[in-house]
Amino acid sequence: MPRRPDTPCSSCGKLLWSGTTSLPAGSLKCRPCRRAASKAPCTTCGLEFDAWTGGHRRRTCSSACEREARLRAITEARQAPRPLRACEDCLVAVATCGVVALCDRCRVVRKALRDLEHWRRKNRRRRLDLARVASEPYTLVEIAERDGFCCQICRDPVDMKLVWPKLWAPTIDHVVPVVAGGDDTPANVQLAHFVCNSRKGGRLELAS
Ligand SMILES: [Zn+2]
Ligand SMILES: [Zn+2]
Ligand SMILES: [Zn+2]
Ligand SMILES: [Zn+2]
Repeated sequence: MPRRPDTPCSSCGKLLWSGTTSLPAGSLKCRPCRRAASKAPCTTCGLEFDAWTGGHRRRTCSSACEREARLRAITEARQAPRPLRACEDCLVAVATCGVVALCDRCRVVRKALRDLEHWRRKNRRRRLDLARVASEPYTLVEIAERDGFCCQICRDPVDMKLVWPKLWAPTIDHVVPVVAGGDDTPANVQLAHFVCNSRKGGRLELAS
């Protein structure tokens, strides 16, 4: 017995070959009806377009409309109200989507502590280096007096009342760095602002 198309299109009723399709009965559609069903309004410009192309459903009709849709999504995400959470350090309420919830003040404090820890580590390493080179005793005040209480890097006066890690605090700078074989002696040290000293190449020596 010759086979004939036996399944009606669920939209227009035209008989179709059911073939090997696994679609449930009643959802089969002829090609023109499928095309019509895949028409959808572009979410940006609203014009009808063929949403099913290249095997996936698109929400916009063109790359220009797609770009606009993405920009819109970004703006909406930015304007969306952020969840209120407690600052991890002071428990004040902050609106944030961030990984850690921190108020502005605690964020600054945490960064400062991180920086300080960084310099402390550097300084410990520095002390170990100092133990290996020739040294003669000196004090910060002696060196400061000798250098006229002026930073030998920027030549500006140094306020001896400031204490590290204040940026303009007095520090001892090795002219030839200890790591480069410079001695820890009065002849090889000079007075420098903390900020000038650390700018010189990230080398810091605490006044001892
Ligand atoms: Zn049809
Ligand atoms: Zn469009
Ligand atoms: Zn806080
Ligand atoms: Zn200076």
